[in-house]
Amino acid sequence: METRKGRRYKTHYELPGEGELFIVSAPSGAGKTTLCRKLTAIVPRLKHSVSYTTRPRRKGEKNNVDYTFISEKKFKAMINRGEFVEWAVVHGNLYGTSLKRLRGLMKKGYDIILDIDVQGVLQVKRKMSEAVYIFILPPSIHVLKKRLTFRMSDTAGEIEKRVKKAKEEILSYRNYDFIVINDDLRKALKELESIVIAKRLKVNRVKSALLNKSRTEKL
Ligand code: ADP
Ligand code: 5GP
Repeated sequence: METRKGRRYKTHYELPGEGELFIVSAPSGAGKTTLCRKLTAIVPRLKHSVSYTTRPRRKGEKNNVDYTFISEKKFKAMINRGEFVEWAVVHGNLYGTSLKRLRGLMKKGYDIILDIDVQGVLQVKRKMSEAVYIFILPPSIHVLKKRLTFRMSDTAGEIEKRVKKAKEEILSYRNYDFIVINDDLRKALKELESIVIAKRLKVNRVKSALLNKSRTEKL
């Protein structure tokens, strides 16, 4: 496969099969949104699941693209109807992953990235042990603070809260299968891409994809 950024190779993972789930978590400001966006842009058949949130929309964010922005009342009604695979209060706002959205995408054969906080990860882990758990870390707390400041989306007080929370969140690294340090963006992206490709090349995945193909081709 050719892309504008250069030659990319094709693997068996482009054959139809069941979708895989990649759970990506990180302290706020580590670069998870930036990396996940770039990753879905370069890896075929990989989609980001759009979460629901009650947090106010930031400048430049689009409804149903970055998040689905809803009121607290609507969010709580969705909780009561059991519509979330996981949900959590993060920095004072509610965030949740819709089961319907997730199933819909996975049924279509897409691999999915869930960009969720560490509390959400624990909930998903109880339900989906097959998923791949990835933790993104900044090179240091100092750099994290600089990135949050540079992003200009939070007040100084909010940044302090996020940095304090980051120090606690980092301690949960043992819950993950992979750690990616986001120092150099290109290197971190390459590492994330490698994790996705490695998972797609696992025997069970390739086998089911090949079996599907051989059935349809009447070998
Ligand atoms: P998160 O989604 O984890 O909260 P963002 O993706 O919003 O973090 O990144 C936080 C800020 O850091 C953004 O301004 C982003 O452009 C910047 N950033 C992300 N990765 C890097 C990197 N490797 N080097 C320098 N700046 C980065
Ligand atoms: P932000 O408001 O900066 O976009 O995200 C704040 C935090 O909420 C991040 O750690 C992000 O991963 C997390 N988050 C985003 N969507 C979800 C979700 O659906 N569930 C959970 N548990 N956390 C989420």
